[in-house]
Amino acid sequence: MENVSGYFGSMVFDDRVMKANLSAGVYKSLRKTIDQGAKLDISVANAVAAAMKDWAVEHGATHYTHWFQPLTGITAEKHDSFISPSPDGGVIMEFSGKELIKGEPDASSFPSGGLRATFEARGYTAWDPTSYAFIKGKTLCIPTAFCSYGGEALDKKTPLLRSMEALNKQALRILRLFGNSHVKCVRTCVGPEQEYFLITKEMYDKRPDLRFTGRTLFGAKSPKGQEMDDHYFGVIKPRVAAYMEELNDELWKLGVLAKTEHNEVAPAQHELAPIYTTTNIATDQNQLTMEIMQKVAAKHGLVCLLHEKPFAGVNGSGKHNNWSLATDSGVNLLSPGDTPYENAQFLLFLCAVIKAVDDYQDLLRLSVATAGNDHRLGANEAPPAVVSIFLGDELTEVLDAIETGKPYRGTEKTQMKLGVNVLPKFNRDTTDRNRTSPFAFTGNKFEFRMLGSSNSIACANMMLNSVVAESLKIYADRLEGAQDFESELHEMIRKTIKDHKKIIFNGNGYDESWIKEATEKRGLLNYRTTPDCMPHLLDKKNVDMLTSHKVFSEAELKSRCEIMLDNYCKTVLIEANTMADMAKTEIVPAVETYALEVARTAAAKKALVEGLACTYETGLVKKLSQLTDMIALKAEELEEAVVELQGIGDVIGQSEFIRDTILNKMGELRAASDEAETVTAKKYWPYPSYGDLLFGVR
Ligand code: ADP
Ligand code: MG
Repeated sequence: MENVSGYFGSMVFDDRVMKANLSAGVYKSLRKTIDQGAKLDISVANAVAAAMKDWAVEHGATHYTHWFQPLTGITAEKHDSFISPSPDGGVIMEFSGKELIKGEPDASSFPSGGLRATFEARGYTAWDPTSYAFIKGKTLCIPTAFCSYGGEALDKKTPLLRSMEALNKQALRILRLFGNSHVKCVRTCVGPEQEYFLITKEMYDKRPDLRFTGRTLFGAKSPKGQEMDDHYFGVIKPRVAAYMEELNDELWKLGVLAKTEHNEVAPAQHELAPIYTTTNIATDQNQLTMEIMQKVAAKHGLVCLLHEKPFAGVNGSGKHNNWSLATDSGVNLLSPGDTPYENAQFLLFLCAVIKAVDDYQDLLRLSVATAGNDHRLGANEAPPAVVSIFLGDELTEVLDAIETGKPYRGTEKTQMKLGVNVLPKFNRDTTDRNRTSPFAFTGNKFEFRMLGSSNSIACANMMLNSVVAESLKIYADRLEGAQDFESELHEMIRKTIKDHKKIIFNGNGYDESWIKEATEKRGLLNYRTTPDCMPHLLDKKNVDMLTSHKVFSEAELKSRCEIMLDNYCKTVLIEANTMADMAKTEIVPAVETYALEVARTAAAKKALVEGLACTYETGLVKKLSQLTDMIALKAEELEEAVVELQGIGDVIGQSEFIRDTILNKMGELRAASDEAETVTAKKYWPYPSYGDLLFGVR
């Protein structure tokens, strides 16, 4: 195999390529834009565009696209060719700075939640120079933000970039107070661990539910599931290994640092983790990773399922968002330091996160809310819908000592005094308790584990960045006006611990008793579904906070809330329609055919042997008959509920009706059909079984 370092990032217009292909002056201006957000001169843009085009054409590209992340779906792109007619009747390959900076996709069918209608008919895309352009197939993809003409964000990247800026601003204020004058900027870094399922294309094609909705809407339990725990970190099957190898290759070419891969808990479930990078780039790369995962699977006769819950009764797929704060000089602000002063600074950032997560449990919960993820979070599957923080016993004891002024064991009975004591070295807690936490401190970063496998990480990170920016702002306001910095700092940390320790939970997050304690004793929020949490996006405290940091305007928040709920409704509506259709046109006829076969068998047997009772056949035909009646009835009830849903005028009402009625009807229809599957001969059942799907890739 060719040396990876030879082709890693070969399809990316990254810093190395920029340095080699741009004049020193142009490179310097562009870096200033990337690092400090300086305004980009059109002459610089023209030079960058020309170099980008030459490089892209050299690497086989014929088209370019402004690549962006609309509010639904993974990514969007509209391809334009580089070709311009030349006066001599031929063509030349052209690409100007103007085309690089701004594009105008015909975006009228992207969701805007009413925004575009109020302002202008079309949106435009704007180049994000902080994320590198790359070549996919024959197309140069230019990462862009997508806005309305009034400047309202219509995508996920714009608020993410704004939230990074908000956090940068507040974190710098804090660092200055600690005497750090050399740090130019603070960025958040993310390493998202991506879970997915692989099944064969052949079986996928036979399941309308998978094709239309990404998950199985029917399916009796397989005799073998994940009870043996024999898949987790198990030997990777050759076909899957070949897939992973090609996937890595493709990702490496695109500069994605795909690093670890292993089997997950459920059969057919796997995980891919890249090495962490700046949040903005990590977000683009995760979108790209999901896309490439599906593409490469197709080449191997496989289908990559990114749905949060493709199979009932089997572990769903999530995405772990490992998040940290780092300075431009590479210092991780969530890493306990070596000196008392660094420790105090670390504790302040730690407290900022604790306070933020407690104050804005709702925003974090809703940032990961989708119809698909409700199957995991709301159904006592890892982790629960209640947001809490795992710190580990050692760090929790340190915080206790600070709060109460009592001695801490590790410091030989001395009191924990900020600015005086060095923190004890924390060992990374790798117990299972940590793995059940929605938000765990893992030594020098937080792992936010509530994200669904298909979520864009932009949504979680724009909220995470914003809520932490808010804590830091409150701290900075107080510290900047303090008479005595050290005592104010100590008091603020102490008070944060006292007020917010209710969000800290080091026990087992899957325990029933935890949910009770969390909600009844501690008063933590438990929004089990998307309709439960999403409307809280518009709570006054949330709107005030998000607008004050300029992450969102109020109009943008309203539109987003509407789009997310609308998306939830559409998703479930498609599922409901698919279910009713499968039940009526395939499942009932299949069960009927089998019943007829059994009845014919009984009749034939009776004709042959006088006095034969055929008790088994009679009982089975009766059972099949009852089940077809039930399936038909439940399908009809579901269809009636869908008609009722369509009569509801507002999206909140619709989402609540789905939560309270449609999902129950779907559950009842499924239960009847799954029972029928267990008594119908396999060759009559129209779909591959769970066993076939989960153990089909060899
Ligand atoms: P696990 O959670 O499975 O034990 P690791 O600790 O190796 O795995 O890390 C998982 C992910 O966390 C990887 O994507 C890794 O790059 C990322 N990560 C490691 N350190 C940091 C950090 N300081 N900031 C953000 N992400 C990080
Ligand atoms: Mg993890």
